[in-house]
Amino acid sequence: MELQKVIKGLHHVTATVNDAQEDYDFYTKVLGLRLVKETVNFDNEAVYHFYYADEIGNPSTVFTTFPYKDQGVRQGVIGNGQVVQTSFSIPHDALDFWEKRLINNGLSYSKTKRFGLETLVFTDPSGLVLDLKANPQDTREDHIWSTDDIPKSKAIKGIHSVTFSVEDGDATGKFLENFGYRKVMGEDNLTLYEVGEGGPGNSVIMRSNPDGDTGINGLGTVHHVAHRVADLETLEKVRNYIEDDLGIDITEVKDRKYFKSIYFRIPGNVLFEVATEEPGFLIDEDKDELGTSLKLPDWQEVRREEIEKNLIPYER
Ligand code: ZN
Repeated sequence: MELQKVIKGLHHVTATVNDAQEDYDFYTKVLGLRLVKETVNFDNEAVYHFYYADEIGNPSTVFTTFPYKDQGVRQGVIGNGQVVQTSFSIPHDALDFWEKRLINNGLSYSKTKRFGLETLVFTDPSGLVLDLKANPQDTREDHIWSTDDIPKSKAIKGIHSVTFSVEDGDATGKFLENFGYRKVMGEDNLTLYEVGEGGPGNSVIMRSNPDGDTGINGLGTVHHVAHRVADLETLEKVRNYIEDDLGIDITEVKDRKYFKSIYFRIPGNVLFEVATEEPGFLIDEDKDELGTSLKLPDWQEVRREEIEKNLIPYER
């Protein structure tokens, strides 16, 4: 199976974070993303699942969090076997705007250049490492979300890429090529890969770090990165290929309501998901109402009262 024809790019990135209020305020008010869905972690309904994205939750713009404060989860350690940095894409002339904005919000940041792109690196309230990459190639123009103080012309357009760290770059690189990604270029111990149409939203960066410590899951770490395919039929073919041809353990297809998903660990131990573009976030809310109330799948709706009682309220 030629996966480079079916893996279209990134779908979403999901992180374990600390406090729901801090998380909501940071991603919607500081970074200016739209909360397009408020639901619960389908595997732990005492915890919210927040989906932040563009106006309608287009795949490759979606960043999701599980706020696990007071649920007995320790602070994580970022390291090998994890996504260590999540990059968002901003217009090429928006760098000054964002530098001022980070300063005005009391955030310290560093400025670097990676693969030719000016990059602002900072951390979120839980300790996740994020960056903004200014670039002229991002064609995602149709559903950019703006806020009172972030005009569309400066706003985040979606995920740019993720950087994950592995001990054995050769083994992981070989897997990535079998998974459909193509090597674009290297810089220091980083290698840039692209899939589908390439560019922002369709890129990953592998950090080869043979002497690095293994990461530990917990608050302030990325849980997994999801790649996108068109539909369920394609997802099932990809599942069979990964299990049978690549010999990698993989979950059954899971119903995530807004997409169908499979999960597996790549050589290098990073947790990958493959998710369908269908049906998307408009399946249970109109565009104007996205993210304005708690949505539950049918199998949890029957216990709504109990579920709502256990969630910690936060202010919009
Ligand atoms: Zn996911």
